[in-house]
Amino acid sequence: MNRKLLSSKIKCPNGCKYCFANFREYFNKTQIGIEEEIDIIYPSCDSELFLSEIEGFLVNQKHIKIISLSTKNIISQENLCRIKELNETILKNRNGFIKLSVSFTCKNMVSIIEPRCATYNQRIELLSKISSIDIPTSVIFKPILPFIPVEEYYEIITDTMMYSNLYLIGGLYFEKNSKFNEEHTLSQYLTENREINWLEHKPIWAYIPSTDIIDKIKSRINEFNLQAFDSDISLIQTIYNQRYGK
Ligand code: SF4
Repeated sequence: MNRKLLSSKIKCPNGCKYCFANFREYFNKTQIGIEEEIDIIYPSCDSELFLSEIEGFLVNQKHIKIISLSTKNIISQENLCRIKELNETILKNRNGFIKLSVSFTCKNMVSIIEPRCATYNQRIELLSKISSIDIPTSVIFKPILPFIPVEEYYEIITDTMMYSNLYLIGGLYFEKNSKFNEEHTLSQYLTENREINWLEHKPIWAYIPSTDIIDKIKSRINEFNLQAFDSDISLIQTIYNQRYGK
């Protein structure tokens, strides 16, 4: 599948402490050419902030089939309706869809880790609204923060499972020479170096896979007959098969 992560012209004001868009080695000027075949597009990290840009892409880029959005912001009812309409248009014209996921990295430290994002309860409310107006959705546990107790993730599963049965899970990229590393002594956790092949210049970043925590979270998800995914492509394929596949 051909996937693109787009940069926005708007700088995200949300201030998440782990945001890779603030890494020294993050450069992404991806623009999509009119003729380029795109299966899945990721228009920046936060959806409502960039909704007008997303609509612009859709008008100009006739080949895009699936738009994968994630958010930690409040989204107004009006904008939810716009996203629903866009979803229906893509489904009718291109046999694709929009997925609007809600991201959670913790429950009790939101105001510290994600200081200008929606609160925990606002995100639960948003997920409930997305589910009630029937926009394809999922819960994103990315990044899993190694200093958050696994019980906190269990609580998030309990609070979200009535609105989504799909969970995307992944570890944490971080910069060794960063305040976030200093504050949480991230270097104490098992770390590997990963090549970032979704960026054109393919930087190498430190990555904490949190395998033990992730395995426990996946077991909990499976206990409730929900589905856990390591990759957004597999999750998207599942949505397609469940909702739109013949
Ligand atoms: S929502 Fe947070 S992680 Fe996403 S771009 Fe904004 S600051 Fe970065």
